[in-house]
Amino acid sequence: MKNYKIPTLTIAGSDSSGGAGVQADLKTFSAIGTYGMSVITAITAQNTKGVFMVEDLSKEIIKKQIEVVFDDIRPKSLKIGMVSSEEIIKEIAKTLDKYKPENLVIDPVMISKSGYSLLKPEAKQSMIEYLIPMAYIITPNTPEAEEITGIKIDNVEDMKLAGQKILELGPKFVLMKGGHLDGDAVDILIGKDIFKVYKSERLYRKNTHGTGCTLSSAIAAHLALGYDICESVKRSKEYITNAIRYSFDIGSGVGPVHHFY
Ligand code: PLP
Repeated sequence: MKNYKIPTLTIAGSDSSGGAGVQADLKTFSAIGTYGMSVITAITAQNTKGVFMVEDLSKEIIKKQIEVVFDDIRPKSLKIGMVSSEEIIKEIAKTLDKYKPENLVIDPVMISKSGYSLLKPEAKQSMIEYLIPMAYIITPNTPEAEEITGIKIDNVEDMKLAGQKILELGPKFVLMKGGHLDGDAVDILIGKDIFKVYKSERLYRKNTHGTGCTLSSAIAAHLALGYDICESVKRSKEYITNAIRYSFDIGSGVGPVHHFY
C-alpha cells in the first residue's frame, strides 16, 4: 500500500543523466509510494555513454545533510549507494551511528556498468569495516561479492559460500544478486534463519543503467512501508524485473530502466 508521507532516504551519488544514483533512487521511492529524501555524496558528470568526471562532496556537507535530515524528518528506511572514499565512508558511518537507523540497505557500489570505478580501491576495506556491519541488508552483485570476500563466483554454490562469508561481517541479511552469471537470474537471500532463492526469467535488454540502484532503493521503500524482509525483496524483484522489461532507448548508449512502467 503506497503511503507518500513515509520518509525514505538515499545517501548516494548524483547521475546527471537521471538513470542511476540519487535520481534513480528518488524515482523508485516515488514509484513505490514513499516520500524520498537525498543526501548527495558525489556529483558524477554522466550520460548513457559513460561516466566522464566525478567530484566528491566534502565530508562536512555530507555529514550536515545527514544530521539536518535526521534531526527533522527521521527516515523509516535508507539506502547507501556510491560512497567513493575512505574519508567519506568513515564520516557517514560515524554520523549514522548517532542515529542508529533502522532498515539500512547498502548497495556496495564499486564499478559502473560502463567500467568507471566509483569506489577508490583503497576505500574497499573501510566499507567492509565500517559500513557493512551496520547494514540491515546488503545487496552485492557477484563482482562486488568477489571483491568483498575474495571468493571467485562461478555458480550458485559459490554465491551461497560468498553470501555466508558476507553475513559474518555483520549485516542482518545479504541479498546475493546472480544477474552476472549465465542462465536464469537467480538471487539468494541469506540471513541467520533465512535462506531463500528467487528465480526469475532472464531478460535480454540493452538498457539496464541503474538496475542496482533501483533494486536497493525499492527494498528500502518496501521496508519503509512495513513489509518484512522476504516480502520486500520479493516485491522489489518484481519491480526491477518489470522496470528492466520496459526499459527504453533514450540517449545513444545504455538507457535507463522504466521506473514508472
Ligand atoms: N552512477 C552513480 C552515481 C551510481 O550511484 C551508480 C550506482 O551503481 C552508477 C552510476 C552505476 O550504475 P550502472 O552500473 O547501472 O550503470
